Amino acid sequence: MSTQDLLAKIGQSTEETEFYTPMPPGYRKGHHKYVVVVGTVISGLGKGIFASSLAKLMQDKGLRVAPIKMEGYYNVDSGTLNPYRHGEVFVLDDGMETDMDLGTYERLLDQDLSAANFTTNGQIMSSVLKKEREGSYLGRDVQAIPHVTGEIKLRLRELAVKSNADVVFVEVGGTVGDYETMHYLEACRQLAFEEGEGAVVFVALTYILEPNAVGEQKSKAAQLGIKRLMEVGIMPHIIACRATREVREKVREKISMYTNVPMRRVVSMHDLDSIYLIPDALRDVGIDREVLTLLDLHERVNQRHEDQARLRWRWFVDRIGVNKKSVTLAVTGKYVALRDAYASIIKAAEHCSVHLGVDVQLRWLDTTMIDADNVAKRLADVQGIIVPGGFGIRGTEGKIECIRYARENKMPYLGLCLGFQMAVIEFARNVCGLKEANSTEFETNCKHPVIDILPEQKKIEGLGGNMRLGGKDIELKQGSLVSKLFDNARMTRLRFRHRYEVDPTYIKQLEDKGMIFSGKHPTQPIMQVLELPQSMHPYFVGTQAHPELTSRPLRPSPLFMGFVKAAAEFANRHAGGSSSPSQSRKPEPQPV
Ligand code: GLN
Repeated sequence: MSTQDLLAKIGQSTEETEFYTPMPPGYRKGHHKYVVVVGTVISGLGKGIFASSLAKLMQDKGLRVAPIKMEGYYNVDSGTLNPYRHGEVFVLDDGMETDMDLGTYERLLDQDLSAANFTTNGQIMSSVLKKEREGSYLGRDVQAIPHVTGEIKLRLRELAVKSNADVVFVEVGGTVGDYETMHYLEACRQLAFEEGEGAVVFVALTYILEPNAVGEQKSKAAQLGIKRLMEVGIMPHIIACRATREVREKVREKISMYTNVPMRRVVSMHDLDSIYLIPDALRDVGIDREVLTLLDLHERVNQRHEDQARLRWRWFVDRIGVNKKSVTLAVTGKYVALRDAYASIIKAAEHCSVHLGVDVQLRWLDTTMIDADNVAKRLADVQGIIVPGGFGIRGTEGKIECIRYARENKMPYLGLCLGFQMAVIEFARNVCGLKEANSTEFETNCKHPVIDILPEQKKIEGLGGNMRLGGKDIELKQGSLVSKLFDNARMTRLRFRHRYEVDPTYIKQLEDKGMIFSGKHPTQPIMQVLELPQSMHPYFVGTQAHPELTSRPLRPSPLFMGFVKAAAEFANRHAGGSSSPSQSRKPEPQPV
């Protein structure tokens, strides 16, 4: 039997074989390699940061890398998850709503990802059940092994083909031993066997405890965690030890002795000042070269590519924390208690900080506590305001007060999605005199629904009442502040996640009073970016999009760059006192 016939046979579920390993067309065995990163001991150690840093090192060498995050939950995507529990929903260009870790990969790799880079139990099970209903399993009883694991391996190989990857980086969610992710580990074990020697590297990310009462680093939890991994048939090739302080040699020796992993592959991954320092830290301990050796990839390395990539990265890393100025920006958000809910905004601000040499402090404001009487006090010593995305009415009136304050006091303003809509409502109420302007999201029968779900848009987009999701082109108005920020480009592309729009019947009234819609859908009456003219305000910009999602260390978001620059100028103008522009006031303690 030829290899092709054999592959075709084990790719089907039949009575003749216990194997079930469907292969996507175009799969090149031996060409595509895998690095599987699993967590032991505890979750939340930064598996995604580790995996993306290692992937970056490989990418710098000229290799094509493709990450995939495999989630243990049964939701089909992250769209319905509460950001309180799971952090922000990260939207990809193709509209897939994913875990915030995908943001880490996109930022570190400077690469747009797609639905192929993200899977959940919900997706895997949906595919399996669909195939079962279609009769694809040919009378077999459908089982975790081989059918569910077969589906998982298919996902990994499909990604390898689609991205023509030299190395697929697989991040398995949760920690070893979790019921939810056992089948992922089993699939990866099978994958390693099927792909053969030198094709799959397993990395265990573990944790070294240093209890205060003991006063020294202890390796026992790490050993037990790795034992757990061995119990499911996986011998790690590399062990990365997370710790607060550098892991001592003796502790690494102990781990090496208990796991058969040589010392050069048991590395310390202790806390650093910035996650952007991790790629170089991994390189310094030689992990990149170990992976090349284990996967037999030395010959694919492009040295020139690596030298250039490293120079560019050094430029960025060397500027971290080198600041000539400092600004404090208020972020009004519903989930003020959980910073992960705004991870990309924090990152976008960080990128600008490095590029502009400005220390950017974010101050979180719960707008449910803000009204016309106390807004000036609350915003006393900030130099800019961001109203980020959000859903639901809670805190919206406070947001409108903040926006009014920013507009009237020429304090830089950046509205993101909901912040764009709120800026339209504020302007309609306080400048156009439409006192009862609102969004139908908050007041179904309001007199002036300047923000609404439009029947014609439902038709146009073909989305019904659903979200408008993913990357969309935006036509920029020539000569506007925003088009200048985008280097006078005619078009740009940003990511969206919303339902409501500016009602086109109000556009003329808004424009007559000065509002400029500087970014629009190229063919439909959908307003995507707004600004106020320079004669009215130095930097008042809102966008229906989420520019924070596509800000990258070496390519920061132009809208954030303009905003932080304007905030620094605002700070200069108001230097010499903590009082803010229109009234003098004492700063008071801020809510978290
Ligand atoms: N709730 C608003 C809408 O659905 C804004 C959404 C958002 O900020 N992501 O249109």
